[in-house]
Amino acid sequence: MMQIEAGTTRIGWIGTGVMGQSMCGQLMDRGFATTVYNRTRKKADPLIDRGAVWADSPRLVAEQSDVVFAIVSFPRDVRQVFLCKNSGVLAGCRDGSIVVDMTTSEPALAIELYNTAKQVNVQSLDAPVSGGDVGAREGTLSIMVGGERETFETLMPCFEAMGKTVVYQGDAGSGQHTKMVNQTLIATGMIGVCEALLYAHKAGLDLEAVLRSVGSGAAGSWSLSNLGPRIVGNHFDPGFFVEHFIKDIGIALSESRRMGLSMPGLSLADALYQSVKAHGDADRGTHALMLALAEMSAVDWQNR
Ligand code: NAP
Repeated sequence: MMQIEAGTTRIGWIGTGVMGQSMCGQLMDRGFATTVYNRTRKKADPLIDRGAVWADSPRLVAEQSDVVFAIVSFPRDVRQVFLCKNSGVLAGCRDGSIVVDMTTSEPALAIELYNTAKQVNVQSLDAPVSGGDVGAREGTLSIMVGGERETFETLMPCFEAMGKTVVYQGDAGSGQHTKMVNQTLIATGMIGVCEALLYAHKAGLDLEAVLRSVGSGAAGSWSLSNLGPRIVGNHFDPGFFVEHFIKDIGIALSESRRMGLSMPGLSLADALYQSVKAHGDADRGTHALMLALAEMSAVDWQNR
Protein backbone atom coordinates (compact mmCIF):
# COMPACT_ATOMS: atom_id res chain seq x y z
CA MET A 1 0.00 0.00 0.00
CA MET A 2 1.31 3.47 -0.85
CA GLN A 3 2.53 5.98 1.76
CA ILE A 4 0.61 9.26 1.74
CA GLU A 5 2.85 12.30 2.05
CA ALA A 6 2.38 15.92 1.04
CA GLY A 7 5.13 16.66 -1.47
CA THR A 8 5.18 13.17 -3.00
CA THR A 9 1.58 11.91 -3.21
CA ARG A 10 -0.24 13.42 -6.19
CA ILE A 11 -3.89 14.19 -5.52
CA GLY A 12 -6.64 14.35 -8.13
CA TRP A 13 -9.84 16.26 -7.31
CA ILE A 14 -13.14 16.19 -9.24
CA GLY A 15 -16.04 18.45 -8.30
CA THR A 16 -15.16 21.96 -7.16
CA GLY A 17 -18.57 23.17 -5.97
CA VAL A 18 -19.63 24.37 -2.51
CA MET A 19 -18.01 21.40 -0.74
CA GLY A 20 -15.24 20.29 -3.11
CA GLN A 21 -13.73 23.75 -3.44
CA SER A 22 -13.03 23.97 0.30
CA MET A 23 -12.12 20.30 0.81
CA CYS A 24 -9.56 20.32 -1.99
CA GLY A 25 -8.30 23.63 -0.60
CA GLN A 26 -7.64 21.95 2.77
CA LEU A 27 -5.39 19.38 1.05
CA MET A 28 -3.55 22.15 -0.81
CA ASP A 29 -3.09 24.03 2.48
CA ARG A 30 -1.21 20.96 3.73
CA GLY A 31 1.11 20.99 0.75
CA PHE A 32 -0.47 18.35 -1.51
CA ALA A 33 -0.04 18.94 -5.26
CA THR A 34 -3.44 18.64 -6.96
CA THR A 35 -4.87 18.14 -10.43
CA VAL A 36 -8.50 19.25 -10.72
CA TYR A 37 -11.52 18.85 -12.99
CA ASN A 38 -15.07 20.20 -12.79
CA ARG A 39 -17.93 20.16 -15.31
CA THR A 40 -17.99 23.97 -15.31
CA ARG A 41 -14.36 24.97 -15.54
CA LYS A 42 -14.64 28.43 -14.03
CA LYS A 43 -15.66 26.93 -10.66
CA ALA A 44 -12.14 25.44 -10.49
CA ASP A 45 -10.47 28.83 -11.08
CA PRO A 46 -9.96 29.75 -7.41
CA LEU A 47 -8.05 26.45 -6.89
CA ILE A 48 -6.07 26.92 -10.13
CA ASP A 49 -5.14 30.44 -8.95
CA ARG A 50 -3.71 28.77 -5.83
CA GLY A 51 -1.57 26.35 -7.85
CA ALA A 52 -3.82 23.41 -8.79
CA VAL A 53 -3.34 22.07 -12.32
CA TRP A 54 -6.38 21.71 -14.62
CA ALA A 55 -7.05 18.46 -16.53
CA ASP A 56 -9.67 18.14 -19.27
CA SER A 57 -11.44 14.97 -18.04
CA PRO A 58 -11.70 12.66 -15.01
CA ARG A 59 -9.51 10.17 -16.91
CA LEU A 60 -6.77 12.78 -17.39
CA VAL A 61 -6.99 13.67 -13.69
CA ALA A 62 -6.43 10.00 -12.82
CA GLU A 63 -3.46 9.71 -15.19
CA GLN A 64 -1.74 12.51 -13.22
CA SER A 65 -2.66 11.25 -9.73
CA ASP A 66 -2.00 8.57 -7.10
CA VAL A 67 -5.27 9.19 -5.24
CA VAL A 68 -8.42 10.62 -6.87
CA PHE A 69 -11.21 12.19 -4.79
CA ALA A 70 -14.59 13.23 -6.16
CA ILE A 71 -17.52 15.10 -4.65
CA VAL A 72 -20.03 15.71 -7.43
CA SER A 73 -23.84 15.97 -7.37
CA PHE A 74 -26.00 12.91 -8.07
CA PRO A 75 -25.36 9.14 -8.40
CA ARG A 76 -25.52 9.53 -12.21
CA ASP A 77 -22.58 11.96 -11.94
CA VAL A 78 -20.62 9.51 -9.78
CA ARG A 79 -21.21 6.86 -12.44
CA GLN A 80 -20.09 9.18 -15.24
CA VAL A 81 -17.02 10.47 -13.40
CA PHE A 82 -15.67 7.08 -12.28
CA LEU A 83 -17.11 4.47 -14.62
CA CYS A 84 -17.39 6.10 -18.08
CA LYS A 85 -15.39 3.74 -20.33
CA ASN A 86 -13.55 6.45 -22.30
CA SER A 87 -13.20 9.44 -20.02
CA GLY A 88 -13.80 8.07 -16.51
CA VAL A 89 -11.37 7.92 -13.59
CA LEU A 90 -10.96 4.14 -13.69
CA ALA A 91 -9.91 4.35 -17.35
CA GLY A 92 -6.93 6.46 -16.25
CA CYS A 93 -5.88 4.75 -12.99
CA ARG A 94 -2.67 2.75 -12.65
CA ASP A 95 -2.16 -0.42 -10.59
CA GLY A 96 -2.32 0.38 -6.88
CA SER A 97 -4.10 3.75 -7.20
CA ILE A 98 -6.87 4.70 -4.76
CA VAL A 99 -10.20 6.36 -5.62
CA VAL A 100 -12.52 7.97 -3.08
CA ASP A 101 -16.09 9.04 -3.71
CA MET A 102 -17.19 11.67 -1.17
CA THR A 103 -20.50 12.47 -2.93
CA THR A 104 -23.66 11.48 -1.03
CA SER A 105 -24.68 8.59 -3.26
CA GLU A 106 -26.24 5.12 -3.34
CA PRO A 107 -24.76 2.29 -1.23
CA ALA A 108 -25.23 -0.13 -4.15
CA LEU A 109 -23.26 2.15 -6.47
CA ALA A 110 -20.44 2.34 -3.91
CA ILE A 111 -20.27 -1.47 -3.92
CA GLU A 112 -20.32 -1.56 -7.74
CA LEU A 113 -17.51 0.99 -7.86
CA TYR A 114 -15.48 -0.99 -5.30
CA ASN A 115 -15.87 -4.23 -7.29
CA THR A 116 -15.12 -2.63 -10.67
CA ALA A 117 -12.05 -0.86 -9.27
CA LYS A 118 -10.81 -4.08 -7.67
CA GLN A 119 -10.79 -5.77 -11.10
CA VAL A 120 -8.14 -3.29 -12.27
CA ASN A 121 -6.19 -3.45 -8.98
CA VAL A 122 -7.49 -0.10 -7.71
CA GLN A 123 -8.85 0.40 -4.19
CA SER A 124 -12.12 2.32 -3.76
CA LEU A 125 -13.60 3.97 -0.66
CA ASP A 126 -17.02 5.57 -0.17
CA ALA A 127 -16.50 8.54 2.14
CA PRO A 128 -19.49 10.88 2.30
CA VAL A 129 -19.35 13.82 4.67
CA SER A 130 -21.48 15.82 7.07
CA GLY A 131 -20.89 19.27 8.52
CA GLY A 132 -22.05 21.47 5.66
CA ASP A 133 -20.36 24.34 3.86
CA VAL A 134 -19.09 25.62 7.22
CA GLY A 135 -17.45 22.28 8.12
CA ALA A 136 -15.83 22.08 4.66
CA ARG A 137 -14.41 25.61 4.97
CA GLU A 138 -13.09 24.99 8.47
CA GLY A 139 -11.81 21.43 7.88
CA THR A 140 -14.11 20.07 10.62
CA LEU A 141 -16.28 17.66 8.61
CA SER A 142 -17.47 14.29 9.87
CA ILE A 143 -16.26 11.71 7.31
CA MET A 144 -17.91 8.26 7.26
CA VAL A 145 -15.92 5.67 5.38
CA GLY A 146 -16.68 2.31 3.74
CA GLY A 147 -14.23 0.00 1.96
CA GLU A 148 -11.11 -1.86 3.09
CA ARG A 149 -9.76 -0.81 6.47
CA GLU A 150 -6.16 -0.81 5.29
CA THR A 151 -7.00 1.66 2.50
CA PHE A 152 -8.89 3.81 5.00
CA GLU A 153 -5.89 3.88 7.33
CA THR A 154 -3.53 4.70 4.46
CA LEU A 155 -5.61 7.77 3.56
CA MET A 156 -5.87 9.16 7.11
CA PRO A 157 -3.49 12.10 6.42
CA CYS A 158 -5.89 13.29 3.69
CA PHE A 159 -9.07 12.68 5.69
CA GLU A 160 -7.61 14.46 8.72
CA ALA A 161 -6.94 17.52 6.57
CA MET A 162 -10.65 17.76 5.71
CA GLY A 163 -12.37 16.47 8.82
CA LYS A 164 -12.38 16.43 12.59
CA THR A 165 -14.31 13.15 12.96
CA VAL A 166 -13.13 10.37 10.65
CA VAL A 167 -14.69 6.97 11.32
CA TYR A 168 -14.33 3.63 9.53
CA GLN A 169 -17.84 2.14 9.15
CA GLY A 170 -17.13 -1.21 7.44
CA ASP A 171 -17.22 -2.76 3.98
CA ALA A 172 -17.91 -0.86 0.75
CA GLY A 173 -21.29 0.90 0.93
CA SER A 174 -21.16 1.33 4.74
CA GLY A 175 -20.09 4.97 4.46
CA GLN A 176 -23.12 5.73 2.28
CA HIS A 177 -25.47 3.80 4.61
CA THR A 178 -24.12 5.83 7.55
CA LYS A 179 -24.75 9.02 5.61
CA MET A 180 -28.38 7.90 5.09
CA VAL A 181 -28.68 7.58 8.88
CA ASN A 182 -27.33 11.13 9.10
CA GLN A 183 -29.79 12.45 6.49
CA THR A 184 -32.73 10.77 8.23
CA LEU A 185 -31.78 12.63 11.42
CA ILE A 186 -31.39 15.93 9.58
CA ALA A 187 -34.62 15.62 7.55
CA THR A 188 -36.84 14.89 10.51
CA GLY A 189 -34.99 17.43 12.70
CA MET A 190 -35.38 20.19 10.12
CA ILE A 191 -39.17 19.90 10.31
CA GLY A 192 -38.88 20.53 14.06
CA VAL A 193 -36.52 23.49 13.63
CA CYS A 194 -38.88 25.22 11.15
CA GLU A 195 -42.11 24.46 13.03
CA ALA A 196 -40.60 25.65 16.31
CA LEU A 197 -39.47 28.98 14.81
CA LEU A 198 -42.90 29.41 13.18
CA TYR A 199 -44.50 28.84 16.58
CA ALA A 200 -42.14 31.37 18.19
CA HIS A 201 -43.03 33.96 15.55
CA LYS A 202 -46.79 33.48 15.94
CA ALA A 203 -46.43 33.69 19.73
CA GLY A 204 -44.84 37.11 19.28
CA LEU A 205 -41.44 36.11 20.67
CA ASP A 206 -38.07 37.67 19.80
CA LEU A 207 -36.64 34.98 17.52
CA GLU A 208 -32.98 35.76 18.21
CA ALA A 209 -33.60 35.58 21.96
CA VAL A 210 -35.45 32.29 21.49
CA LEU A 211 -32.51 30.84 19.53
CA ARG A 212 -30.13 31.85 22.36
CA SER A 213 -32.26 29.95 24.89
CA VAL A 214 -33.18 26.80 23.02
CA GLY A 215 -29.99 26.48 20.99
CA SER A 216 -27.87 25.71 24.03
CA GLY A 217 -30.35 23.46 25.89
CA ALA A 218 -31.48 19.89 25.32
CA ALA A 219 -33.09 20.90 22.00
CA GLY A 220 -29.81 22.16 20.54
CA SER A 221 -28.62 20.81 17.19
CA TRP A 222 -26.29 21.66 14.31
CA SER A 223 -29.29 22.65 12.18
CA LEU A 224 -30.68 24.93 14.88
CA SER A 225 -27.34 26.65 15.60
CA ASN A 226 -26.20 27.03 12.00
CA LEU A 227 -29.44 27.31 10.02
CA GLY A 228 -31.71 28.86 12.69
CA PRO A 229 -29.97 32.28 12.39
CA ARG A 230 -30.10 32.05 8.56
CA ILE A 231 -33.88 31.34 8.72
CA VAL A 232 -34.45 34.24 11.12
CA GLY A 233 -32.30 36.54 8.94
CA ASN A 234 -34.13 35.47 5.72
CA HIS A 235 -30.91 34.11 4.18
CA PHE A 236 -32.01 31.09 2.16
CA ASP A 237 -28.97 30.62 -0.10
CA PRO A 238 -27.29 27.17 0.05
CA GLY A 239 -25.45 25.78 2.13
CA PHE A 240 -26.92 22.52 1.18
CA PHE A 241 -29.17 22.49 -1.90
CA VAL A 242 -32.84 21.37 -1.57
CA GLU A 243 -32.29 19.41 -4.81
CA HIS A 244 -29.48 17.39 -3.21
CA PHE A 245 -31.52 16.79 -0.06
CA ILE A 246 -34.42 15.40 -2.12
CA LYS A 247 -31.86 13.06 -3.74
CA ASP A 248 -30.66 11.90 -0.29
CA ILE A 249 -34.16 11.41 1.13
CA GLY A 250 -35.03 9.39 -2.00
CA ILE A 251 -32.00 7.11 -1.51
CA ALA A 252 -32.77 6.64 2.20
CA LEU A 253 -36.44 5.87 1.48
CA SER A 254 -35.58 3.38 -1.22
CA GLU A 255 -33.04 1.63 1.03
CA SER A 256 -35.55 1.58 3.91
CA ARG A 257 -38.20 0.01 1.64
CA ARG A 258 -35.66 -2.59 0.50
CA MET A 259 -35.05 -3.43 4.18
CA GLY A 260 -38.80 -3.61 4.90
CA LEU A 261 -38.80 -0.54 7.15
CA SER A 262 -41.63 1.95 7.54
CA MET A 263 -40.22 5.50 7.89
CA PRO A 264 -43.22 7.84 8.28
CA GLY A 265 -41.09 10.77 9.46
CA LEU A 266 -38.80 10.57 6.44
CA SER A 267 -41.79 10.14 4.10
CA LEU A 268 -43.29 13.34 5.50
CA ALA A 269 -39.99 15.16 4.96
CA ASP A 270 -39.99 13.88 1.36
CA ALA A 271 -43.51 15.25 0.74
CA LEU A 272 -42.61 18.62 2.30
CA TYR A 273 -39.40 18.98 0.30
CA GLN A 274 -41.24 18.08 -2.93
CA SER A 275 -43.47 21.03 -2.09
CA VAL A 276 -40.42 23.29 -1.55
CA LYS A 277 -39.19 22.23 -5.00
CA ALA A 278 -42.63 22.81 -6.57
CA HIS A 279 -42.49 26.36 -5.19
CA GLY A 280 -39.32 26.90 -7.27
CA ASP A 281 -36.87 26.69 -4.37
CA ALA A 282 -34.80 23.63 -5.42
CA ASP A 283 -31.67 25.79 -5.70
CA ARG A 284 -32.06 27.24 -2.22
CA GLY A 285 -30.70 25.83 1.03
CA THR A 286 -32.53 23.04 2.88
CA HIS A 287 -33.72 25.53 5.52
CA ALA A 288 -36.02 26.97 2.78
CA LEU A 289 -38.41 24.35 4.17
CA MET A 290 -39.49 27.25 6.39
CA LEU A 291 -41.00 29.06 3.40
CA ALA A 292 -43.25 26.10 2.46
CA LEU A 293 -44.30 25.49 6.09
CA ALA A 294 -45.01 29.19 6.69
CA GLU A 295 -47.19 29.32 3.59
CA MET A 296 -49.29 26.41 4.92
CA SER A 297 -50.15 28.66 7.90
CA ALA A 298 -50.61 31.76 5.71
CA VAL A 299 -47.53 33.42 7.21
CA ASP A 300 -45.51 35.60 4.82
CA TRP A 301 -42.20 34.67 6.47
CA GLN A 302 -39.89 36.89 4.44
CA ASN A 303 -42.00 40.01 5.02
CA ARG A 304 -43.02 39.31 8.60
P1 NAP B 1 -22.33 21.69 -5.79
O1 NAP B 1 -21.94 23.02 -5.27
O2 NAP B 1 -23.39 21.61 -6.85
O3 NAP B 1 -21.00 20.96 -6.30
C1 NAP B 1 -20.98 19.83 -7.11
C2 NAP B 1 -19.91 20.07 -8.15
O4 NAP B 1 -19.72 18.87 -8.89
C3 NAP B 1 -20.34 21.16 -9.14
O5 NAP B 1 -19.29 22.09 -9.29
C4 NAP B 1 -20.61 20.38 -10.41
O6 NAP B 1 -20.29 21.03 -11.61
C5 NAP B 1 -19.67 19.19 -10.26
N1 NAP B 1 -20.20 18.07 -11.03
C6 NAP B 1 -21.42 17.51 -10.96
N2 NAP B 1 -21.54 16.51 -11.83
C7 NAP B 1 -20.35 16.45 -12.47
C8 NAP B 1 -19.87 15.62 -13.50
N3 NAP B 1 -20.63 14.65 -14.04
N4 NAP B 1 -18.60 15.82 -13.94
C9 NAP B 1 -17.85 16.81 -13.40
N5 NAP B 1 -18.25 17.63 -12.42
C10 NAP B 1 -19.50 17.45 -11.98
O7 NAP B 1 -22.81 20.75 -4.60
P2 NAP B 1 -22.19 20.59 -3.13
O8 NAP B 1 -23.02 21.34 -2.17
O9 NAP B 1 -20.71 20.81 -3.16
O10 NAP B 1 -22.53 19.04 -2.87
C11 NAP B 1 -21.79 18.02 -3.50
C12 NAP B 1 -22.21 16.66 -2.94
O11 NAP B 1 -21.95 16.65 -1.53
C13 NAP B 1 -23.69 16.32 -3.11
O12 NAP B 1 -23.85 14.95 -3.34
C14 NAP B 1 -24.29 16.72 -1.77
O13 NAP B 1 -25.45 15.96 -1.49
C15 NAP B 1 -23.15 16.39 -0.83
N6 NAP B 1 -23.09 17.17 0.43
C16 NAP B 1 -23.31 18.52 0.42
C17 NAP B 1 -23.24 19.20 1.62
C18 NAP B 1 -23.48 20.71 1.70
O14 NAP B 1 -23.75 21.20 2.81
N7 NAP B 1 -23.40 21.45 0.62
C19 NAP B 1 -22.92 18.55 2.81
C20 NAP B 1 -22.67 17.18 2.77
C21 NAP B 1 -22.74 16.51 1.56
P3 NAP B 1 -21.12 22.31 -12.15
O15 NAP B 1 -20.37 23.45 -11.58
O16 NAP B 1 -21.06 22.20 -13.63
O17 NAP B 1 -22.53 22.17 -11.61
